[in-house]
Amino acid sequence: MNHHIAPDDCIFCKIVAGEAPGHRVYEDEAVLVFLDIFPVADGHTLVIPKQHATNLLACTGDDLASVVRISQRVAQAQRAVFDPDGIGVFQLNGAAAGQTVFHYHMHLIPRMQGDTLAVHSRTPGDPERLKTQAEQLTAAFPA
Ligand code: 5GP
Ligand code: ZN
Repeated sequence: MNHHIAPDDCIFCKIVAGEAPGHRVYEDEAVLVFLDIFPVADGHTLVIPKQHATNLLACTGDDLASVVRISQRVAQAQRAVFDPDGIGVFQLNGAAAGQTVFHYHMHLIPRMQGDTLAVHSRTPGDPERLKTQAEQLTAAFPA
């Protein structure tokens, strides 16, 4: 499979291409940062390489490095906006590990003391709230 070609059934490739809506926070040549549409907490953010790769095993080293480098800046913006007690950073590889979207992505989830540690939610975030939070994170995104 040629990983440079976006599969037309990949929702995250559609968000990268602007063909599906997404509450965008930041982007550069290599990565896109946007809010999870089923957030498990306020500010639940995803960082993805723009180039399609299914998971950790398929992703290029350069894209992995870009995702982690930008994840630190997401965490800094989350700290500035949400003042969380902690920030969970994780990603899942393969359906057996709980992966549900097969385009590599890092989750960054602000956590408050006593939160239940859910990985997924089935409740869509309120669109207005997501819009506001994406704007807050963009404004707080470190240069
Ligand atoms: P995974 O289970 O693969 O680690 O995580 C996939 C994540 O993508 C889930 O947390 C899910 O809520 C999120 N998600 C699924 N579809 C969409 C979508 O269309 N837009 C956005 N922004 N997030 C999505
Ligand atoms: Zn994709």
